[in-house]
Amino acid sequence: MPDRIYNFSPGPATLPVEVLQQAARDIVNYNDKGIGLIEMSHRSKDFMSITAEAEDLIRELLNIPQNYKVLFLQGGASTQFAMVPMNLLGPGKKGAYLNTGTWAKKAIKEAKIIASAQVAYSSEESKFDHVPSDGEYTVDADTEYLYFVSNNTIYGTQFQTMPKSEKMLVCDMSSDIMSRPFDITPFGLVFAGAQKNIGPAGATLVIVRDDLLDRVPETVPTMFRYKTHAEKGSMFNTPPCFAIYTIGLVCKWLKKIGGVSAIEKINREKAAILYEAIDNTDFYRGHAKKDSRSLMNVTFNLPTPELEAKFIKEGTKRGLDGLKGHRSIGGIRASIYNAFPKQGVIDLVAFMKEFEKSA
Ligand SMILES: *Cc1c(COP(=O)(O)O)cnc(C)c1O
Repeated sequence: MPDRIYNFSPGPATLPVEVLQQAARDIVNYNDKGIGLIEMSHRSKDFMSITAEAEDLIRELLNIPQNYKVLFLQGGASTQFAMVPMNLLGPGKKGAYLNTGTWAKKAIKEAKIIASAQVAYSSEESKFDHVPSDGEYTVDADTEYLYFVSNNTIYGTQFQTMPKSEKMLVCDMSSDIMSRPFDITPFGLVFAGAQKNIGPAGATLVIVRDDLLDRVPETVPTMFRYKTHAEKGSMFNTPPCFAIYTIGLVCKWLKKIGGVSAIEKINREKAAILYEAIDNTDFYRGHAKKDSRSLMNVTFNLPTPELEAKFIKEGTKRGLDGLKGHRSIGGIRASIYNAFPKQGVIDLVAFMKEFEKSA
Protein backbone atom coordinates (compact mmCIF):
# COMPACT_ATOMS: atom_id res chain seq x y z
CA MET A 1 0.00 0.00 0.00
CA PRO A 2 2.57 2.62 -1.04
CA ASP A 3 -0.13 5.23 -1.61
CA ARG A 4 -1.26 5.29 2.02
CA ILE A 5 0.20 7.83 4.42
CA TYR A 6 0.54 7.49 8.19
CA ASN A 7 -2.64 8.95 9.59
CA PHE A 8 -2.32 10.18 13.19
CA SER A 9 -5.85 11.59 13.19
CA PRO A 10 -7.64 11.48 16.58
CA GLY A 11 -10.93 10.38 15.02
CA PRO A 12 -12.28 9.33 12.66
CA ALA A 13 -9.01 7.49 12.66
CA THR A 14 -6.93 5.00 10.76
CA LEU A 15 -8.40 1.53 10.19
CA PRO A 16 -6.71 -1.71 9.14
CA VAL A 17 -6.15 -1.72 5.36
CA GLU A 18 -7.58 -5.21 4.98
CA VAL A 19 -10.79 -4.02 6.66
CA LEU A 20 -11.09 -1.11 4.24
CA GLN A 21 -10.45 -3.35 1.25
CA GLN A 22 -13.08 -5.85 2.35
CA ALA A 23 -15.57 -3.05 3.02
CA ALA A 24 -14.90 -1.53 -0.41
CA ARG A 25 -15.74 -4.86 -2.06
CA ASP A 26 -18.82 -5.49 0.06
CA ILE A 27 -20.26 -2.02 -0.51
CA VAL A 28 -20.60 -2.87 -4.19
CA ASN A 29 -21.44 -6.55 -3.95
CA TYR A 30 -21.92 -8.23 -0.59
CA ASN A 31 -20.86 -11.88 -0.61
CA ASP A 32 -21.48 -12.15 -4.36
CA LYS A 33 -25.18 -11.61 -3.84
CA GLY A 34 -25.37 -8.91 -6.46
CA ILE A 35 -26.44 -6.33 -3.88
CA GLY A 36 -24.31 -3.87 -1.97
CA LEU A 37 -23.93 -4.00 1.79
CA ILE A 38 -25.43 -0.54 2.35
CA GLU A 39 -28.37 -1.32 0.08
CA MET A 40 -29.66 -4.28 2.09
CA SER A 41 -32.60 -4.20 4.46
CA HIS A 42 -31.48 -4.12 8.06
CA ARG A 43 -34.07 -6.84 8.65
CA SER A 44 -32.66 -9.13 5.97
CA LYS A 45 -31.18 -12.43 7.11
CA ASP A 46 -27.75 -11.33 5.90
CA PHE A 47 -27.72 -8.12 7.86
CA MET A 48 -29.21 -9.68 10.99
CA SER A 49 -26.36 -12.16 11.01
CA ILE A 50 -23.79 -9.39 10.45
CA THR A 51 -25.10 -7.66 13.59
CA ALA A 52 -25.24 -10.88 15.59
CA GLU A 53 -21.69 -11.73 14.62
CA ALA A 54 -20.40 -8.25 15.51
CA GLU A 55 -22.05 -8.56 18.92
CA ASP A 56 -20.60 -12.04 19.50
CA LEU A 57 -17.11 -10.86 18.60
CA ILE A 58 -17.36 -7.90 20.97
CA ARG A 59 -18.52 -10.22 23.75
CA GLU A 60 -15.68 -12.61 23.04
CA LEU A 61 -12.94 -9.97 22.74
CA LEU A 62 -14.00 -8.07 25.86
CA ASN A 63 -15.25 -11.06 27.82
CA ILE A 64 -18.76 -9.65 28.30
CA PRO A 65 -21.15 -11.99 30.14
CA GLN A 66 -24.80 -12.51 29.18
CA ASN A 67 -26.19 -10.24 31.88
CA TYR A 68 -24.87 -7.27 29.89
CA LYS A 69 -26.58 -6.03 26.74
CA VAL A 70 -24.44 -4.98 23.78
CA LEU A 71 -26.12 -2.19 21.81
CA PHE A 72 -25.28 -0.28 18.63
CA LEU A 73 -26.78 3.19 18.90
CA GLN A 74 -26.56 6.46 17.00
CA GLY A 75 -25.98 10.07 17.94
CA GLY A 76 -22.30 9.63 18.79
CA ALA A 77 -20.69 9.37 22.18
CA SER A 78 -22.07 12.85 22.88
CA THR A 79 -25.65 11.56 22.97
CA GLN A 80 -24.57 9.18 25.73
CA PHE A 81 -23.66 12.17 27.90
CA ALA A 82 -27.43 12.72 28.14
CA MET A 83 -28.72 9.17 27.80
CA VAL A 84 -26.70 7.96 30.79
CA PRO A 85 -28.30 10.35 33.30
CA MET A 86 -31.71 10.08 31.55
CA ASN A 87 -31.75 6.33 32.08
CA LEU A 88 -29.74 5.85 35.25
CA LEU A 89 -30.57 8.99 37.23
CA GLY A 90 -33.63 11.07 36.49
CA PRO A 91 -34.78 14.09 38.51
CA GLY A 92 -33.64 14.21 42.13
CA LYS A 93 -30.84 11.70 41.65
CA LYS A 94 -27.13 12.29 41.52
CA GLY A 95 -24.11 10.91 39.71
CA ALA A 96 -20.45 11.41 40.68
CA TYR A 97 -18.09 12.59 37.95
CA LEU A 98 -14.32 12.81 37.54
CA ASN A 99 -13.59 15.92 35.49
CA THR A 100 -10.48 14.95 33.55
CA GLY A 101 -11.08 16.87 30.34
CA THR A 102 -13.44 18.32 27.76
CA TRP A 103 -15.43 15.11 27.26
CA ALA A 104 -15.96 14.66 30.98
CA LYS A 105 -17.01 18.29 31.30
CA LYS A 106 -19.57 17.93 28.55
CA ALA A 107 -21.01 14.86 30.27
CA ILE A 108 -21.24 16.78 33.57
CA LYS A 109 -23.14 19.56 31.81
CA GLU A 110 -25.74 17.11 30.49
CA ALA A 111 -26.07 15.35 33.85
CA LYS A 112 -26.87 18.71 35.45
CA ILE A 113 -29.61 19.38 32.88
CA ILE A 114 -31.32 16.09 33.65
CA ALA A 115 -30.45 15.36 37.26
CA SER A 116 -27.54 16.45 39.44
CA ALA A 117 -23.82 15.84 39.44
CA GLN A 118 -21.11 15.77 42.07
CA VAL A 119 -17.79 16.73 40.53
CA ALA A 120 -15.66 14.57 42.80
CA TYR A 121 -12.37 15.56 41.19
CA SER A 122 -11.08 18.00 38.62
CA SER A 123 -7.67 18.38 37.00
CA GLU A 124 -8.76 21.48 35.11
CA GLU A 125 -6.36 23.93 36.84
CA SER A 126 -3.38 22.01 35.52
CA LYS A 127 -4.81 21.90 31.98
CA PHE A 128 -6.02 18.34 32.49
CA ASP A 129 -2.48 17.00 32.51
CA HIS A 130 -3.32 14.06 34.76
CA VAL A 131 -6.03 11.75 36.03
CA PRO A 132 -6.57 11.07 39.74
CA SER A 133 -5.64 7.96 41.65
CA ASP A 134 -8.22 6.28 43.89
CA GLY A 135 -7.32 8.03 47.13
CA GLU A 136 -7.48 11.54 45.70
CA TYR A 137 -11.23 12.07 45.75
CA THR A 138 -14.32 11.14 47.71
CA VAL A 139 -17.57 10.12 46.14
CA ASP A 140 -20.77 11.30 47.87
CA ALA A 141 -22.77 8.51 49.49
CA ASP A 142 -25.99 9.52 47.75
CA THR A 143 -24.68 9.11 44.21
CA GLU A 144 -25.82 6.34 41.86
CA TYR A 145 -22.59 5.85 39.94
CA LEU A 146 -19.04 7.03 39.41
CA TYR A 147 -18.57 8.33 35.88
CA PHE A 148 -15.15 8.72 34.29
CA VAL A 149 -13.44 8.93 30.90
CA SER A 150 -10.84 6.17 30.68
CA ASN A 151 -8.75 7.93 28.03
CA ASN A 152 -8.75 11.68 27.56
CA THR A 153 -8.30 11.96 23.82
CA ILE A 154 -7.51 15.68 23.75
CA TYR A 155 -4.98 15.82 26.60
CA GLY A 156 -3.33 12.45 26.16
CA THR A 157 -4.05 11.13 29.63
CA GLN A 158 -5.40 7.72 30.56
CA PHE A 159 -6.37 5.87 33.70
CA GLN A 160 -3.58 3.31 34.03
CA THR A 161 -5.99 1.09 35.94
CA MET A 162 -9.74 1.51 36.26
CA PRO A 163 -10.86 3.40 39.40
CA LYS A 164 -11.91 1.28 42.35
CA SER A 165 -15.15 2.38 43.94
CA GLU A 166 -18.05 1.09 45.96
CA LYS A 167 -20.26 2.74 43.40
CA MET A 168 -21.03 1.18 40.09
CA LEU A 169 -18.75 2.52 37.38
CA VAL A 170 -19.92 4.24 34.20
CA CYS A 171 -17.27 4.92 31.59
CA ASP A 172 -16.75 6.76 28.34
CA MET A 173 -14.22 4.48 26.61
CA SER A 174 -14.53 6.13 23.21
CA SER A 175 -10.81 6.41 22.60
CA ASP A 176 -9.41 3.30 24.24
CA ILE A 177 -12.02 0.55 24.07
CA MET A 178 -10.45 -2.74 22.97
CA SER A 179 -6.96 -1.31 23.41
CA ARG A 180 -6.42 -3.30 26.64
CA PRO A 181 -8.41 -5.90 28.56
CA PHE A 182 -10.62 -4.84 31.46
CA ASP A 183 -13.04 -6.52 33.83
CA ILE A 184 -16.61 -5.43 33.05
CA THR A 185 -18.09 -6.56 36.37
CA PRO A 186 -17.63 -3.29 38.35
CA PHE A 187 -19.27 -1.40 35.46
CA GLY A 188 -22.94 -0.66 35.08
CA LEU A 189 -22.41 0.86 31.66
CA VAL A 190 -19.61 1.44 29.18
CA PHE A 191 -19.98 3.36 25.94
CA ALA A 192 -17.71 4.24 23.04
CA GLY A 193 -18.13 6.14 19.81
CA ALA A 194 -16.80 3.73 17.18
CA GLN A 195 -14.70 6.16 15.18
CA LYS A 196 -11.53 6.13 17.27
CA ASN A 197 -10.60 2.55 17.88
CA ILE A 198 -13.17 0.14 16.49
CA GLY A 199 -14.69 1.41 13.26
CA PRO A 200 -16.11 4.32 11.30
CA ALA A 201 -18.25 7.16 12.63
CA GLY A 202 -21.96 6.51 12.97
CA ALA A 203 -22.30 3.86 15.65
CA THR A 204 -21.88 4.11 19.39
CA LEU A 205 -21.26 0.90 21.24
CA VAL A 206 -23.11 0.69 24.57
CA ILE A 207 -22.59 -2.18 26.99
CA VAL A 208 -25.12 -2.01 29.80
CA ARG A 209 -25.95 -4.34 32.70
CA ASP A 210 -29.45 -5.66 32.12
CA ASP A 211 -30.83 -4.99 35.61
CA LEU A 212 -30.34 -1.25 34.97
CA LEU A 213 -32.72 -1.16 32.02
CA ASP A 214 -35.78 -0.80 34.25
CA ARG A 215 -34.46 2.26 36.06
CA VAL A 216 -35.55 4.55 33.28
CA PRO A 217 -38.16 7.13 34.37
CA GLU A 218 -41.51 7.10 32.53
CA THR A 219 -40.89 10.56 31.11
CA VAL A 220 -37.99 9.44 28.92
CA PRO A 221 -38.99 9.20 25.23
CA THR A 222 -38.83 5.80 23.55
CA MET A 223 -35.74 6.36 21.40
CA PHE A 224 -33.73 7.53 24.40
CA ARG A 225 -34.34 4.42 26.47
CA TYR A 226 -31.68 1.72 26.53
CA LYS A 227 -34.50 -0.71 27.20
CA THR A 228 -36.10 0.02 23.81
CA HIS A 229 -32.92 -0.88 21.96
CA ALA A 230 -32.07 -3.82 24.20
CA GLU A 231 -35.47 -5.42 23.65
CA LYS A 232 -35.16 -5.11 19.88
CA GLY A 233 -31.52 -6.16 19.54
CA SER A 234 -30.51 -2.66 18.31
CA MET A 235 -33.18 -2.97 15.56
CA PHE A 236 -35.93 -0.80 17.00
CA ASN A 237 -35.36 1.49 14.05
CA THR A 238 -32.85 1.46 11.21
CA PRO A 239 -29.46 0.99 12.87
CA PRO A 240 -26.14 2.39 11.54
CA CYS A 241 -25.70 -0.59 9.20
CA PHE A 242 -22.38 0.23 7.62
CA ALA A 243 -20.76 1.13 10.92
CA ILE A 244 -21.96 -2.07 12.62
CA TYR A 245 -20.68 -4.15 9.73
CA THR A 246 -17.28 -2.42 9.82
CA ILE A 247 -17.00 -2.83 13.58
CA GLY A 248 -17.50 -6.54 12.94
CA LEU A 249 -14.65 -6.55 10.42
CA VAL A 250 -12.37 -4.67 12.83
CA CYS A 251 -13.19 -7.21 15.55
CA LYS A 252 -12.33 -10.08 13.20
CA TRP A 253 -9.03 -8.40 12.41
CA LEU A 254 -8.33 -7.94 16.10
CA LYS A 255 -9.19 -11.55 16.88
CA LYS A 256 -6.89 -12.72 14.11
CA ILE A 257 -3.91 -10.87 15.56
CA GLY A 258 -4.51 -12.36 18.98
CA GLY A 259 -7.24 -10.29 20.60
CA VAL A 260 -7.17 -7.49 23.13
CA SER A 261 -4.16 -8.70 25.18
CA ALA A 262 -2.08 -9.02 22.03
CA ILE A 263 -2.98 -5.53 20.83
CA GLU A 264 -2.26 -4.11 24.29
CA LYS A 265 1.30 -5.39 24.03
CA ILE A 266 1.71 -3.75 20.62
CA ASN A 267 0.10 -0.53 21.89
CA ARG A 268 2.58 -0.45 24.79
CA GLU A 269 5.50 -0.92 22.43
CA LYS A 270 4.33 1.85 20.10
CA ALA A 271 3.72 4.33 22.92
CA ALA A 272 7.05 3.49 24.60
CA ILE A 273 8.97 4.35 21.42
CA LEU A 274 7.34 7.74 21.24
CA TYR A 275 7.55 8.62 24.95
CA GLU A 276 11.19 7.62 25.00
CA ALA A 277 11.87 10.04 22.15
CA ILE A 278 10.11 12.79 24.11
CA ASP A 279 11.94 12.01 27.35
CA ASN A 280 15.36 11.97 25.71
CA THR A 281 15.36 15.67 24.89
CA ASP A 282 14.19 19.00 26.29
CA PHE A 283 13.12 20.07 22.81
CA TYR A 284 9.94 17.99 23.04
CA ARG A 285 7.87 18.28 26.22
CA GLY A 286 5.10 15.86 27.03
CA HIS A 287 1.81 17.44 28.11
CA ALA A 288 0.61 14.59 30.32
CA LYS A 289 2.23 13.78 33.67
CA LYS A 290 4.20 10.57 33.37
CA ASP A 291 1.94 8.48 35.58
CA SER A 292 -1.12 9.49 33.53
CA ARG A 293 0.25 9.01 30.03
CA SER A 294 -2.04 7.65 27.36
CA LEU A 295 -1.14 4.71 25.12
CA MET A 296 -3.53 6.07 22.49
CA ASN A 297 -2.93 9.82 22.19
CA VAL A 298 0.58 11.14 22.75
CA THR A 299 0.57 14.91 23.30
CA PHE A 300 3.64 17.14 23.35
CA ASN A 301 4.86 20.65 22.76
CA LEU A 302 7.84 22.20 21.02
CA PRO A 303 9.63 25.31 22.34
CA THR A 304 7.40 27.73 20.38
CA PRO A 305 4.05 27.69 18.54
CA GLU A 306 5.94 28.70 15.38
CA LEU A 307 8.10 25.59 15.58
CA GLU A 308 5.00 23.50 16.21
CA ALA A 309 3.35 24.87 13.06
CA LYS A 310 6.49 24.12 11.07
CA PHE A 311 6.70 20.61 12.53
CA ILE A 312 3.12 19.85 11.52
CA LYS A 313 3.62 21.22 8.03
CA GLU A 314 6.84 19.32 7.40
CA GLY A 315 5.40 16.17 8.91
CA THR A 316 2.45 16.31 6.53
CA LYS A 317 4.83 16.68 3.58
CA ARG A 318 6.52 13.43 4.64
CA GLY A 319 3.29 11.51 4.91
CA LEU A 320 2.92 11.94 8.67
CA ASP A 321 -0.55 13.44 8.77
CA GLY A 322 -2.98 14.61 11.44
CA LEU A 323 -0.41 15.64 14.07
CA LYS A 324 -1.98 18.97 15.00
CA GLY A 325 -3.01 19.09 18.65
CA HIS A 326 -6.56 19.93 19.69
CA ARG A 327 -7.25 23.68 19.57
CA SER A 328 -7.79 23.76 23.35
CA ILE A 329 -4.15 22.90 24.19
CA GLY A 330 -2.33 23.31 20.86
CA GLY A 331 0.95 21.54 20.29
CA ILE A 332 1.25 18.10 18.76
CA ARG A 333 -0.93 15.05 19.21
CA ALA A 334 -0.03 11.71 17.73
CA SER A 335 -3.02 9.37 17.92
CA ILE A 336 -1.77 5.81 17.69
CA TYR A 337 -4.86 3.65 18.10
CA ASN A 338 -5.02 -0.13 17.64
CA ALA A 339 -4.85 -0.01 13.84
CA PHE A 340 -2.00 2.48 13.67
CA PRO A 341 1.13 0.69 12.39
CA LYS A 342 4.29 0.55 14.50
CA GLN A 343 6.36 1.62 11.49
CA GLY A 344 4.51 4.94 11.48
CA VAL A 345 5.68 5.58 15.05
CA ILE A 346 9.26 4.68 14.11
CA ASP A 347 9.09 7.07 11.15
CA LEU A 348 7.67 9.83 13.34
CA VAL A 349 10.51 9.46 15.83
CA ALA A 350 13.08 9.60 13.00
CA PHE A 351 11.42 12.80 11.76
CA MET A 352 11.40 14.27 15.29
CA LYS A 353 15.16 13.72 15.63
CA GLU A 354 15.88 15.32 12.25
CA PHE A 355 13.57 18.22 12.94
CA GLU A 356 15.23 18.94 16.29
CA LYS A 357 18.68 19.01 14.67
CA SER A 358 17.60 21.38 11.93
CA ALA A 359 15.67 23.73 14.25
C1 LIG B 1 -14.39 11.81 20.46
C2 LIG B 1 -14.86 11.61 21.85
C3 LIG B 1 -16.19 11.88 22.22
C4 LIG B 1 -17.19 12.50 21.27
O1 LIG B 1 -17.63 11.57 20.35
P1 LIG B 1 -18.79 11.90 19.30
O2 LIG B 1 -19.06 10.55 18.71
O3 LIG B 1 -18.23 12.87 18.32
O4 LIG B 1 -19.95 12.45 20.02
C5 LIG B 1 -16.57 11.61 23.51
N1 LIG B 1 -15.70 11.10 24.40
C6 LIG B 1 -14.42 10.83 24.09
C7 LIG B 1 -13.50 10.26 25.11
C8 LIG B 1 -13.96 11.07 22.79
O5 LIG B 1 -12.69 10.80 22.48
